Amino acid sequence: MSDMFCFQCEQTAKGSGCTVAGVCGKKSDAAHGQDVLIAELIGLAGASDGKLSDVDLIVDGLFVTVTNVNFDEASIADCAAKVRAARELAGGSLPLGAEALFEGNDDIVSLRSTLLLGLKGMAAYAHHARVLGLRNTDVDAWFIKGMAALASEHSVDEWLSLLMEFGQVNLTCLGLLEEANVTAYGNPTPVEVSMQVEAGPFIVVTGHDLHDLKMLLEQTEGKGVNIYTHAEMLPAHGYPELKKYAHLKGNFGVAWQNQQKEFDGLPAPILFTTNCLMPPRDSYADRVYTTSVVAYPGLAHIAADGTGNKDFSPLIEQALSLGGYNEPVQFQGVNGGTSVMTGFGKQAILDNAGTIIDAVKAGAIKHFYLVGGCDGAKPGRNYYTDFVKETPSDTVILTLACGKYRFNDLDLGTIGPFPRILDMGQCNDAFGAVQVAVALAGAFECGVNDLPLTLVLSWYEQKAVCILLTLLSLGIKDIYIGPSLPAFFSETVTNVLVDMFDLHPITTPAEDLAAIAAG
Ligand code: SF4
Repeated sequence: MSDMFCFQCEQTAKGSGCTVAGVCGKKSDAAHGQDVLIAELIGLAGASDGKLSDVDLIVDGLFVTVTNVNFDEASIADCAAKVRAARELAGGSLPLGAEALFEGNDDIVSLRSTLLLGLKGMAAYAHHARVLGLRNTDVDAWFIKGMAALASEHSVDEWLSLLMEFGQVNLTCLGLLEEANVTAYGNPTPVEVSMQVEAGPFIVVTGHDLHDLKMLLEQTEGKGVNIYTHAEMLPAHGYPELKKYAHLKGNFGVAWQNQQKEFDGLPAPILFTTNCLMPPRDSYADRVYTTSVVAYPGLAHIAADGTGNKDFSPLIEQALSLGGYNEPVQFQGVNGGTSVMTGFGKQAILDNAGTIIDAVKAGAIKHFYLVGGCDGAKPGRNYYTDFVKETPSDTVILTLACGKYRFNDLDLGTIGPFPRILDMGQCNDAFGAVQVAVALAGAFECGVNDLPLTLVLSWYEQKAVCILLTLLSLGIKDIYIGPSLPAFFSETVTNVLVDMFDLHPITTPAEDLAAIAAG
């Protein structure tokens, strides 16, 4: 019997499953603890009457198990103990034990895992919306329904129907988070973000949680400590209520998988607000802080108090004592660029819909490519750089999430008033991209699948899974996906998705661009 089994992310060992230790650095004990936690969450969902405290346990428990979030066996066990107490209080059993999560008929394991992993992704989004004070009864109810459904027997058709229903609920959840972010921080507007780090003390913030960033900006104001975003935090620069802070200076580094190199020798602390945390090297572990559900053995953790407030003074003091760089240091993107653009959120694009529609009608814009999703460490992801470089000059690249770091520092010129690469934000801003596509389809009086629009997605972890299910539930076809297909898709499930939705595994940029051009 293997020490563990996990196949939830794209870098899973041998493309089939991590069985000794995680490629991500997750140890077998932590993996086993996460399986126990999931089994407890399924048991709680089966017994719960839907009360919000149960939903919160399910949301945060699922978020704990997302890739690169929590490596700390003690913290995972603590979470499982709280869920167990709630399950026992509700009179629940364990209908699907930890050892049975990934056992059984290949297709059923595949379909069950796809729903579980989608729910993990949605949990991250629901968590971020909740800390900003928003929740939705349909989303809350579906966490209970979906988790309970994992323990029941369903036919393949019933599983597919559950997955499509989940995709629609996840769309609601993505919309909820957009509403929470926009209500709190305003509609993003386009902004050029420098990749230069100025002299003096600074803190790097990574992950997705804008609320944590806002608290840190407030607590560092006037203290002589600059703040730099990292990875998925880059789109924060577009939000008026965040960019108003003069000490929110720029963006440091590229996507998550380069952190062990980038943070080595960094004269500043780093705050991880969500995934993607990699095991830190000894050379910088004393400067890494986690918060919320993120945890790693031995790292300092900043917890919220009873009112949700967090005291970031340990980071601020360390930033001041480290002192930062003596001189400004210019960093570069993957392609040598020294700045990047962001802030082309849904509203910024819809405000210019007339110009865009005219450009399409005049033939100045021939095609839109949404090239988005996660970045990762495995070879083959330069596909996305090459794909973008090879797109014709009369096309627009919409992008979101951290996969954009493969090409967001490229200068591909402009079409009318717009740069050809438009960064719509974080992965959750897929909601805005869907709304833009629906608006364009309305303007051209056609369906989304009839638009000159192709989605070219890169996936890595479970948030990409829930977004893919949402896109499929909307009936969006001809999506290109890579760098490889999920290990948890059985052959049958892959064939069904290819047949139903014309899902395309990526090949080469030239081949895929030619196929797209040929229609
Ligand atoms: Fe392996 Fe990915 Fe699971 Fe980590 S999260 S153990 S790399 S499949």
